[in-house]
Amino acid sequence: MKRRKQCPAQPKGYIGPEWQCQRLAEHEGAHQASYSKTSRAHISWNDGDTVFDYKTLPGNVRFPKRLWTEERSLRVLDWAITAVLTAGLWFYTSRTAALVYFALELLLSVRRSHFLDFGRFTIGAWPVPPTAPAPILGIGWVLAGEDRTGPKAGLELTVGRAAVGVFSLMSRADWATYKEQRSKARAGEEPQ
Ligand SMILES: [Zn+2]
Repeated sequence: MKRRKQCPAQPKGYIGPEWQCQRLAEHEGAHQASYSKTSRAHISWNDGDTVFDYKTLPGNVRFPKRLWTEERSLRVLDWAITAVLTAGLWFYTSRTAALVYFALELLLSVRRSHFLDFGRFTIGAWPVPPTAPAPILGIGWVLAGEDRTGPKAGLELTVGRAAVGVFSLMSRADWATYKEQRSKARAGEEPQ
């Protein structure tokens, strides 16, 4: 994951790093801060505001996260059980069974979408939206377009509420045009 810089602004009237602006560095619009993610108290202020007197911290400080949460302990326990079961399968049955079991556990643990781009193509794992009925096991086409109404773009494998798939980001014709435009722009920018 790419680490992104956080906006260093902090209102003077509020003490503690919790009140640092929680938006990304060089954001547009008002600075915003609150005590925690679930806090109902939010403050926002603009550069040059006289309502909140604020200071700007040197360097970049990240919004502090609690290291040990209940959710994390449960996930660690979950992975410990998975590790024990995988090791059991590996040593007492077959390695294939262990690998399949581990891959399935990995897939079913998907809570957020993860994608890797290879030029025109993307591979990724993503959770099935709760509005869609989840198949127990399915293989299907990934359709292009925002509402998946376009032509076929790739294949996906779905297990319960998680899916893995490979698909193209744009059609062959669009990709050719895109590459041409990009190389033209590059040639224009960097004359040799
Ligand atoms: Zn800010």
